[in-house]
Parts: sequence; C-alpha cells; structure tokens
Amino acid sequence: MRVLFLFLDGVGLGLDDPVLNPFARANLPNLTGLLDGRRLLAASAPFQNKRATLLALDACLGVPGLPQSATGQAVLLTGRNIPAELGYHYGPKPDQATAATLEDGGLFGVLTRAGKRAALVNAYPAGYFQGIHSGRRLYSSIPLAVTKAGLTLRSTEDLMAGKAISADFTGQGWHERLGHPEIPLLTPPEAGRRLAELSVGLDFAFFEYWLTDYAGHGQEMDAAARLLEQFDAVLGGLLSAWDDENGLVLLTSDHGNLEDLSTRRHTASPVPLLLVGNAPAREKFSGVKDLTGIAPTILEILL
Ligand SMILES: [Zn+2]
Repeated sequence: MRVLFLFLDGVGLGLDDPVLNPFARANLPNLTGLLDGRRLLAASAPFQNKRATLLALDACLGVPGLPQSATGQAVLLTGRNIPAELGYHYGPKPDQATAATLEDGGLFGVLTRAGKRAALVNAYPAGYFQGIHSGRRLYSSIPLAVTKAGLTLRSTEDLMAGKAISADFTGQGWHERLGHPEIPLLTPPEAGRRLAELSVGLDFAFFEYWLTDYAGHGQEMDAAARLLEQFDAVLGGLLSAWDDENGLVLLTSDHGNLEDLSTRRHTASPVPLLLVGNAPAREKFSGVKDLTGIAPTILEILL
C-alpha cells in the first residue's frame, strides 16, 4: 500500500455561496465527479462512494483563536494536539516550540526509521536553499520535518529530470519568476500523472500546495476560481493514472481560508479529508474527527 498526501494549505469546507466561496463557483468536474456531483462544501460531508470518502475535520482543536499553518501542519505530521500543548495556534513559519515538536521528523521520521520510502516531492529552487543556509529564510513545518528525518528536499535538477513537482504544478513560475526557461512546462493533467508516477516509487509521497492559502489571503474570486480549475485538471490527470487497489490519495488542509473570500484571515471552518482509492485504507479513517487523527491512521496503514 502506498499513500500520496496532497496537502492544500488554507482550504476549508464552506458554504454553498458562489459570492464567497470559489468551491461553490468554479467548474471542478474531477472533484465533483468523485463526489457523485456534489461540490467540496460543508454540506457535502460526510460522503462515501466506491472510489472516494469525504469527511469534515475540526482544525481548531479546542484552542481559542484561528488555526495557523505552522501548528496545523505540525499536527498533521505528528498526530499531537500541538496547539493545545502550546496553548496557541502559530504560523505561518514555526516558532521554537512548534519546531521542537518536529525534531524527530514527524511522519517522515517514523516512516524512514521503519525502512519505508518517504519523500516530499516538491521542487525547491536554488534561491530557497541559499535563503535557508544563510539564515534569511526559515523552513516551514513540512520541509523542516523532512530535513529532520534526514531526507533531502528536491531541487531544480530533480525537476529537470522529472523527479519532482513544481509548487505551481506546471513549472510556469520557474520560467517567469525564477529564470529557468529550460524547465519543461507540464500541462496540469501531465503534472497530475507525474504525481502518480512519483508515488509508485515510494511508500509515502507528500506534495505541499500553498497557492490555495495565498489565493485565500488575496480575496480575488476570479483568480481563486482559476486556481481551483487548474488544480482540478491536475486531479484529473492524477486520478486517471492512480492505482486504487494499491494506493490511497489523501487530500487535506491545515485550516480554512480559501472557502470564504469575505475575510482575508483564516477561518474556523472544518477542513476536508478527501480520500480516494483503496477502500479498506479509507475505512480506517472512519472515526477521525480532527487533524490529530490523520498521522496515526497513515502509520496504521503503512507500518
Ligand atoms: Zn495563511
């Protein structure tokens, strides 16, 4: 069994309101197809069919204030209620106390020490590594956990070789902003198929998509809907190449944001847990109610 963790930053389950919620507005045939015509909204969960399961998970975890990325991602990677342990939500980058909870690499560390092949398949440009090494830039929780597990982050060379995925899926940003016109551009369905291909060589593949949170803070409906439509095309490519019998795609988030463009801040909305593929593996998540349930269930499936 293999697991592909598709992490979408800042995606909650919101209202069926096309003025506020791009998930109620955008044309997302692959996502709605998985849910027998339902949109990715609060009213659609819980849901289950032959291929997919959708649950709504609490991201607030009993701690006052709005959930934030560093602590939310740390919960996803450890299964611990870190906001409750610390007494606060924190982000976007981890403070010392949050970073300390990832010292053993979280899921990446546990799986690697158990002899499983785990990887973060995002590609990072040279400037990112320079920023980290010079101290100008801090790791966010996910790459921090990966490096603490002793794994390496994938680079421009990996992207060139087809062994990593661009943060924008297509590689357009490498052409327009990073000065790498030699990077092959992928269509969204090609990027989705590459996600499936990279997963085949791994027990646990993780992809971090942060543009959703960025679009939520940006509050522009047309841009948000276009972003989701591109993501849906990636999902279409992924699903066309995914082996349901031997694999589970797990899509979730750290906190709400994009589903309510009336606010620039994060939201207290539940987040989706969308599972696609192997039915016994999906069934193991049936009692999961909040972000703390994801990591232990992944370990139960993979170990
Ligand atoms: Zn944010």
